[in-house]
Amino acid sequence: MAKIVEQYIEIAKKRNPGEPEFHQTVEEVLTSIEPVLEAHPEYVESGLVERLIEPERGVSFRVVWVDDNGKVQVNRGYRYEFNSAIGPYKGGLRFAPNVYPGIIKFLGFEQIFKNSLTGLPIGGGKGGADFDPNGKSDAEIMRFCQAFMTELYRHIGPSTDVPAGDLGVGAREIGYLFGQYKRIVNRYEGVLTGKGLAYGGLAGRTEATGYGIVFFAREMLKHCGEDLKGKNVAVSGFGNVTWGTVQKLNELGAKVITISGPDGYIYDEDGVSGDKVDYLLELRGSGKNICSPYAEKYPNAKFFAGKKPWEVKADLYIPCATQNEIHIEDAKAMVANGCKFLCEGANMPTTNDALKYLMDNGVVVGPSKAANAGGVACSCIEMGQNAGHTVFSPAQVYEQLETIMVNIHKHAAEASEKYGLGYNLVAGANIAGFEKVAEAMMAQGLV
Ligand code: GLU
Repeated sequence: MAKIVEQYIEIAKKRNPGEPEFHQTVEEVLTSIEPVLEAHPEYVESGLVERLIEPERGVSFRVVWVDDNGKVQVNRGYRYEFNSAIGPYKGGLRFAPNVYPGIIKFLGFEQIFKNSLTGLPIGGGKGGADFDPNGKSDAEIMRFCQAFMTELYRHIGPSTDVPAGDLGVGAREIGYLFGQYKRIVNRYEGVLTGKGLAYGGLAGRTEATGYGIVFFAREMLKHCGEDLKGKNVAVSGFGNVTWGTVQKLNELGAKVITISGPDGYIYDEDGVSGDKVDYLLELRGSGKNICSPYAEKYPNAKFFAGKKPWEVKADLYIPCATQNEIHIEDAKAMVANGCKFLCEGANMPTTNDALKYLMDNGVVVGPSKAANAGGVACSCIEMGQNAGHTVFSPAQVYEQLETIMVNIHKHAAEASEKYGLGYNLVAGANIAGFEKVAEAMMAQGLV
């Protein structure tokens, strides 16, 4: 069986040359679903995995806009619609200069399993553009979003494909994208999630990803007979996900000892709490240096220029910045510091060799597909709110979010147990996410 999985990985590499991030996730997922393929030879016979690693559809398009100096700018936009076996394609849009098909495909592929794990009817997709929102004026952002949607609109729809935000795409961008979609199609419908509360957005969506991560971490610790209360937590990043995570960690009695930005990281032994969290909110998504100003504002905090927080001793590590922010040397430092728990907030923050090293050394890892699924789960609740022409209260949303995260943890742990893998949430999440999609694909024939 290992041989067939290797063949699938080779197919993905050959068909998508020069896209290491996509190869990385395919390798990670396929290796862990090997026991499921062994138990289901019909999956192999029906070419199910070959179909799964090939997006159902992918578009790349030119985005032309004019900057504030009157200069014509050309960017490239993407939408990869990966899998619609269990629902309409769902996943965010990322605007960042390093966006290229390898990034969008890795995110789109991960989204299939993440969305399946939520237990909600959403397929997997992802999009974005190689556009850098940093340093752009508000008017430039609006013109870019309008130009981007002028092509994207024909590929999406509330029952077809429902994008949301990701890095570089927040409430402001979603607003401009929604306005342009509505202008073109002349329909008021839930085609995007992460909208503002005044026009169909869901209360609690902004903090949902971070809150969900902490609920998931709490379940991991509980399973191992521990409590979040009083734990020292090293967190990276300073954007939306970090903000929600820090807020909920404080609420549940943990102490956040680090945050990080492009300039390095902050070690704050008093804890990042109170007005320091409001400061994070101010900085959210600014893309500017944040750690040196933090250290100036709060002199007890120490600033480590150009470094990552993984060298700090902590009870729990929560990377919330971006993909591949934990390398093998970071994993070694964490293990040397007695690390027991890693809960991934960002998408694929750990390289495969670092992940293996951590797990081989007894670290309990909560994989991002499971741990950060609270964001997209709330997006699906937003779709339901829009389709039902209604409004949910924050309490209704938070309650559902917590139940969803507890269930994701339970299903991942059970799937791992079922295949004799013990408490391996990385494999368990992949297996649990895969099982539902595979069943749906089998039922729907060769499409
Ligand atoms: N970009 C987020 C993620 O990585 C949210 C996607 C969504 O809400 O559709 O899951």
